Amino acid sequence: MKEKKPTWLRAKLPSGPEYGNVRDIVDDNQLHTVCQSAQCPNMGECWSRGTATLMILGNVCTRACTFCAVQTGKPTELDLAEPPRVADAVAKMGLKHCVLTSVARDDLPDGGAKVWAATIRAVRHKNPNTAIEVLVPDFKGEFENLDIVLKAKPNIFNHNLETVERLQRPIRKTANYQRSLDVLSHAQKAGFPIKSGIMLGLGEKEEEIRKALKDLADIKLDVLTLGQYLQPSPEYAPIDRWATPEEFANWKTEALDLGIQVVESGPLVRSSYHADEQSARFASEDRVSA
Ligand code: SF4
Repeated sequence: MKEKKPTWLRAKLPSGPEYGNVRDIVDDNQLHTVCQSAQCPNMGECWSRGTATLMILGNVCTRACTFCAVQTGKPTELDLAEPPRVADAVAKMGLKHCVLTSVARDDLPDGGAKVWAATIRAVRHKNPNTAIEVLVPDFKGEFENLDIVLKAKPNIFNHNLETVERLQRPIRKTANYQRSLDVLSHAQKAGFPIKSGIMLGLGEKEEEIRKALKDLADIKLDVLTLGQYLQPSPEYAPIDRWATPEEFANWKTEALDLGIQVVESGPLVRSSYHADEQSARFASEDRVSA
């Protein structure tokens, strides 16, 4: 892709005291953020709004997805003292809606599910009025591990499909389209509001996007995010095209017509971008019985 990055992808620069405040809270609590690890273009904007997406279970991922800048390898960290530090950071940021994510930990027998559950509980205990959105890996499709996370009752369950079915193998390697749909559907059937996201610009065709939206609508997806793929550096999957703002708007209309209730669609949209606004109405719902 030789064309220059279009102007609509120009991200906002950091401004105001909140940016430094978020950085200090993250550093002081010895935490990782996906904002930094995945080189998110929205850091200037989100951190200046006083929000970040904390990434638990270390910053080394056992998967090697070709779109993602998070470091890949054999993790050495299993920090059982991390959950209270996450809870403390959420309190210091004063978040009414927090998004938590993690690296994939296929090296652990439970995929990190127990640390996930401990983190959700610690955040809730210290921040009883904060909605907790979790953006989780697929736990290799092992529902017993997924259920450990669900039992901690996050307010929103998010798992990204990332791309269309045909491109799963080259882009997500060890992940699987149907498995991701099954993970989402499992959470939906357990009563959780579910959310997912797809990137455009990886080589997907129009009909393939349409099918992915239909598959997500069929499992009763509540919230969808659609954004432009950005190549972290030349060794990652190349950018196939720049999807225009008009195209994003058209997909939004199609997804809404399919019955997905909230659709955030635009070049710089990411799973956790303005998550508080996207998901507010679902975060307060209590669909899960005790
Ligand atoms: S969009 Fe998400 S990952 Fe990116 S800076 Fe904002 S909170 Fe962080």
